[in-house]
Amino acid sequence: MKLYRLCIAVMALMMACALSGTEAKAQQNDEKAKYIFLFIGDGMGSTHVAAAESYLSYKEDKLGGAMLTMTSFPYYGTATSHSANRNVTDSSASGTAISCGEKANNYTLGVNAEGEPIRSMSYDLKDEGYQIGIISTVPINHATPGAFYANSKSRDDYYNISTQIAGTGFDFFAGSGFIDFKGKDQKEEPIDAYLERYGYEVSYGIEEFKKESEGKDKVIFCQESNRSESAGNYVSEGKIIEDATLGQMLDLGLDFFDTEKPFFFMCEGGKIDWTAHGNRTMPMVMDVLEFDDAIAKAYEFYKNNPEKTLIVVTADHETGGLTLGCGDSTINWEKLEKQWLDEGKKNTLSDEDNRKLNQECSIGWTTGSHTGGPVPVFAVGKGAEKFAGRMDNTEFKVKILGE
Ligand SMILES: [Zn+2]
Repeated sequence: MKLYRLCIAVMALMMACALSGTEAKAQQNDEKAKYIFLFIGDGMGSTHVAAAESYLSYKEDKLGGAMLTMTSFPYYGTATSHSANRNVTDSSASGTAISCGEKANNYTLGVNAEGEPIRSMSYDLKDEGYQIGIISTVPINHATPGAFYANSKSRDDYYNISTQIAGTGFDFFAGSGFIDFKGKDQKEEPIDAYLERYGYEVSYGIEEFKKESEGKDKVIFCQESNRSESAGNYVSEGKIIEDATLGQMLDLGLDFFDTEKPFFFMCEGGKIDWTAHGNRTMPMVMDVLEFDDAIAKAYEFYKNNPEKTLIVVTADHETGGLTLGCGDSTINWEKLEKQWLDEGKKNTLSDEDNRKLNQECSIGWTTGSHTGGPVPVFAVGKGAEKFAGRMDNTEFKVKILGE
């Protein structure tokens, strides 16, 4: 009899534990924002943000004080970004750490330091019924967007990375296009035809997208300028003016999604890194402003759904070792802006002339590569308080998933 009672008690206890586990899980899911926006400014250190604000202040005839949307958010933190094998990360290792929550070696995508595939938060969210949108101003198979859906021992294995989209089931992709459109040797099936065979509607330009995405459930937006060809890699002189902006691509995604259901967007401002690699000050500032315009769109959405929305903004690493004030304590924005306007909102100066321009305007760049300092984190909305203070880039996944 005693044994019988003990068994009952143990069983009751086990049931209670199981129940509280389920309850706890349900509660956790409840705590997660229904609408999640993760913005990654590629190469955007704190000084890139400060440079954009300094330029805006100049436009207002002030020495400082102008603010971006991202810097107006109530929670501020910093994230360390070293990779598994280097003090200074590249985009693929840092993208992987942010997306999958584990350190990776430089040049690898979605695999841990042992080379084993690891899981992006996008897949966890997809399993929980979230619609998934991956957006970038650079190619869809580039390192940062790739880190949110692909596993590859090399970030340069572009065609293989693109083909992995087929198996994701993710709802919305947008970017400039695809690098290695027909593979490295130009002998593979064009990537748009390949992905269409797997149920993705691939459209070029906003007009075509609006027509073709109607009634579809999985879509890919590419810039009109990259129809049927490989999207370019590093260009420092600035974007093609006719291209859709990051904000326009986010709008397409928001229109496409059913906002009755939860969603997750990863939006990358990818060209901040490219212009910073080239040490092109004005194009970099413009890329930060374009990035912030997209954040402002998400912020508008947040204001209509403040209880259910989380916006997190960060970077994967700093690029260029940017310094505001290099020699003179006055930054000559007038001269920087004039060169840029005179060239039709571009900077195609030779590296030597560009170096002189930066020097004359008191802007310092110490490198054409990435640097290893901490990157900024800005957050607003449901659960945003978790992003205050110091963190490592492997903590984003857990903080966003709320596990
Ligand atoms: Zn990067």
